[in-house]
Order: sequence, then C-alpha cells, then structure tokens
Amino acid sequence: MKNIQLFVPTFDIDECLKEIRECLEKGWTGLGYKTIEFENQWKEYTGLPHAHYLNSNTIGLQLAVKIFKEENKWSDGDEIISTPLTFVSTNHAILYEGLKPVFADVDDSLCLDPDSVLHRITPKTRAVMYVGMGGNTGRLNDIADICRSKKLKFILDAAHMAGTRFNGKHIGYNADCTIFSYQAVKNLPSADSGMICFTDGELDKIVRMYSWLGINKDTYARTTGMNKGEYKWYYDVSYVGLKAHGNSVIASLCIAQLKHLDRDNARRREISALYDSRFQNNPSIRLIRMATGCESSRHLYQIAVDQILRDPLISYLNEKNIFPGVHYRTNTDYKMYSYAKGTCPKAEKYSTEIISLPLHMKLTDDEVNYVADQVIEYMSKNNTGA
Ligand SMILES: *Cc1c(COP(=O)(O)O)cnc(C)c1O
Repeated sequence: MKNIQLFVPTFDIDECLKEIRECLEKGWTGLGYKTIEFENQWKEYTGLPHAHYLNSNTIGLQLAVKIFKEENKWSDGDEIISTPLTFVSTNHAILYEGLKPVFADVDDSLCLDPDSVLHRITPKTRAVMYVGMGGNTGRLNDIADICRSKKLKFILDAAHMAGTRFNGKHIGYNADCTIFSYQAVKNLPSADSGMICFTDGELDKIVRMYSWLGINKDTYARTTGMNKGEYKWYYDVSYVGLKAHGNSVIASLCIAQLKHLDRDNARRREISALYDSRFQNNPSIRLIRMATGCESSRHLYQIAVDQILRDPLISYLNEKNIFPGVHYRTNTDYKMYSYAKGTCPKAEKYSTEIISLPLHMKLTDDEVNYVADQVIEYMSKNNTGA
C-alpha cells in the first residue's frame, strides 16, 4: 500500500522549465522581468488594484504591519486583534513590529468570530488580522464592516486563499491589505514566495521601496532631471528597508502554476465534497462550517472529532499509511502568546479536535474513499458518544 500524504505539490514541469529557461537565456533571474509579469497576471486574475511580489507571505505580513504603523503613527504596544488558530507567521508579524496581538475567538468556520472581535476592541486597537482558514471566507465581510465602522485597518492573511471567491468575486476587495503565500505546499505552490496587495496605491509604492532596502530609484532622476539610465547609482534611500522582494526564477514557477489554479481548486472542491458526503451523517465526525457564497480554494479539508480520540485517530491512520496534519495548535500554547491562554475557549478546544485529511492533485477518488473508510471505521469502533 502506498503512502497517502497530506500535501503533494504538483507542477507542470515543462511549463515551469520553459519559464525558467527564458530567465536563464535572458540572463535575468532577479527582481523585475518575471516578477513584474506575475504581478500583472495576479492583478488580472484577482481584480485587485495592486500586487507586489515578495519572497514570502511572512515578510508580507510584517511589511503590512510596519507600513501601516509608520504611515498612521501607531505606537509600540498598540493592539492588533488576531486569531490564535493559525500558523505562527500571522502573529509573529505583529510582534516583529512591537505591537501586541490581542486574540479573539473563532466560530465553527475556524475563522475569527465577529462578535468576539467586537468585544476585544479597546482604545488601543489599530487593526484586525484575519485568516481565511483553509480557503474558507468565514464571516470575513462582517469583519470588514466592523473595521470600516471602527476605523481599523483590515489585514487579510490570505495564505490559504489563492483562488477563493465570494459571490463570484476574488477575495481581497474589502481588505486594506491582502497577503498571499506561494510556499512549497500551499495550493499555488512555488518554492517560497508571496504577494502583498495594498488597496492604496501610495502604500504599494512604499512597499516596493521597503522590500528592497528602502531604495528609491525615482527621486534622483526627478529632482535633477537627469536620465535615470545614465546615473543609476545616484538613487536615494528613503527607508531602512528589508531585503524582501521575490525573484524571476521563483516567479517563473508561479506563472506556470497560475495557469491551472482554477482547475486545481475545482478538483480540491470535488475531493472535499466526496469527503463531506462520506462523513455528513456520522454523529462522531463534525464538518467545518463553510460560509454561504464562498467558493473556497480548499487548501485544507478539516474535520473535528472528540479530543480524546484525535491523536489516537492520527496514529491509527499512520498505521494505515495515511498521514494527516493538524492546522493548527492554538498559538496561546506557545510561550510568547501564553499571556492570552484561556481567552479563546473555542479555538483552544478546536485545537485539540481538528484533523486535516490528505488533499492534493495526485489523490484518486479511490484513495479519498480509502481515507474516509479508515476514519469512519476507527470512529465507529472507538466513539464514546461524546
Ligand atoms: C503558510 C502560512 C503563512 C506563511 O507563509 P510563507 O509564505 O511560508 O511565509 C502565513 N499564514 C498562514 C495562515 C499560513 O498557512
């Protein structure tokens, strides 16, 4: 029996190599060229007005917080409301910039609960950081409304959301900044890279400088009237920026992958629907609530089971050559976020109950059914009725 892994990225190898070959032939592997080509394709695909290609989503989250902080004169210790049920990048980005993550609880979509967010707003709250878990929008639009009415910035960690649409429209349209990930096992895998999409064009200009050490190539030419090409080294440095931009070799993979993203996501939804149909009337297996109107990228397929059985179920599946995952442990279990332990009971409970089942383009329906059979069999033998 072959192993059934959680994630297996699939590449159109010929298409990837064709794009990379163009970089090598041109002698251009760095910033520009394919990074700009992919930025333009991403804007076209998502309908978002701006897109800047970075070497990761994590650095994009940090740049979003950094630039909002500087431009809006936030102070150290100001608060950003965030979810404890996420990859640590989401919350580390807040700490990197000297702000404080204040955790709100999740609802049954595993995304932030708008009512809990409202309760966590204080005079120091500056923004909400939202994660669309597994590609699910949850109640993203309600949170966007709260941000608008309370004058908070809305930062969307869309690491799982490449290709997620809500009522037919690609997500990101109502956030102040949306950050995507093309990390090696995401639903649009490259090797490592990400995209930051500010709604405000001025902030897009700033992040382009910030992601390349703060270098401002425009000012010298503008202030002296000299030809930029002749005096390239006379650039100004406007910020103490980071080295965070993406490169043309990795952008080549993104360009090749974007061509089949919608087809891949459709297959992901088909696999998820098959799992749903197998589990839906099983009293010991809970499905995660999918928002109405959401066409999810389905980066993840998650279920929840009695917490006593969760880890033993994973061990049992491992014996059957199935290798699921858990997304995620509540961040309040980690020492830097432990100050908030107990403040988000639902997230803490889900953290002990959820399992992500194998979901990728190489899975056959037979394999999905085999995974479902094993889960159902284990639960029927061991269910305590809880
Ligand atoms: C993967 C992930 C990130 C980090 O993305 P990178 O591109 O690896 O930096 C951030 N947030 C969430 C929710 C993720 O799953």
